[in-house]
Amino acid sequence: MNVTNDISRVRALRWENPQITWGFVPTMGYLHEGHLSLVRRAREENERVAVSIFVNPTQFGPGEDLSQYPRALERDMELLRAAHADLVFTPNDADMYPPGFQTYVSVGDVAKTLEGASRPSHFQGVATVVTKLFNIVQPTRAYFGQKDAQQVAVLRQMVADLNFNLEFIVCPTVRELDGLAMSSRNKYLSPEERQAATVLYRALTAAESAWRAGEKRGETLRAIMTATVAHEKLARLDYASVADPMTMIELEHISAQALFSLAVFVGKTRLIDNFLVDS
Ligand code: AMP
Repeated sequence: MNVTNDISRVRALRWENPQITWGFVPTMGYLHEGHLSLVRRAREENERVAVSIFVNPTQFGPGEDLSQYPRALERDMELLRAAHADLVFTPNDADMYPPGFQTYVSVGDVAKTLEGASRPSHFQGVATVVTKLFNIVQPTRAYFGQKDAQQVAVLRQMVADLNFNLEFIVCPTVRELDGLAMSSRNKYLSPEERQAATVLYRALTAAESAWRAGEKRGETLRAIMTATVAHEKLARLDYASVADPMTMIELEHISAQALFSLAVFVGKTRLIDNFLVDS
């Protein structure tokens, strides 16, 4: 496994043999089974697998958890070696944003609601770093988790709009046994908060059950999620949404696909989760 922060070394490895297919998994590290599921999928579908580990400062807003974001580089390397990654790109801030850096990817309406409303410059930062990573690695296929559903929508739009020459692949959310979506941020939770954090899954499950039973009104489904979160005393709702999964526009009535999503503060930790439903 090659580990490097050197962009020209990544390019050299990538283009050693142009025929070879490369799968790419961008991450912020502190890896868990969610990340590893993407690496395994990339492993199955490509001759080479590249993973990046970079806690991208431009996607964190002021007052967010950039400085506390968990890191465990040695452990991550062990996990990636075991998963048979071929290349791990571990740039530092100055490699990605050298002095004088001034060009950003501007994202559109799909990035304005939900996460974009709560975290105003987040998706511009995500789109910018993912563009840079795509240009550095030039993968055949890139792998992202459904866990970050709006990120998927924003990047899918970006890949189409800016003609990236790659296949954009979305993988299912990996969960703990009690339903909590795996996340590096789960580490912040105290034991009591960890219990309370299952409220996201419970709220989504309640809304999904109602939808299965025939409830198709967005407002009612949002109210079901809101009420479930309100019952959990360590939790505070940021948003509960029933939206079109491509545009992220709220739905009055579900006719086909819908994305049920929510963001909840559990103590000081902000968690997100979603279910994608399709009739
Ligand atoms: P992050 O390190 O949080 O930036 O995540 C890197 C990639 O892993 C993103 O595409 C995430 O959507 C994906 N990911 C994070 N958590 C999960 C999970 N529980 N299941 C599946 N994919 C995930």
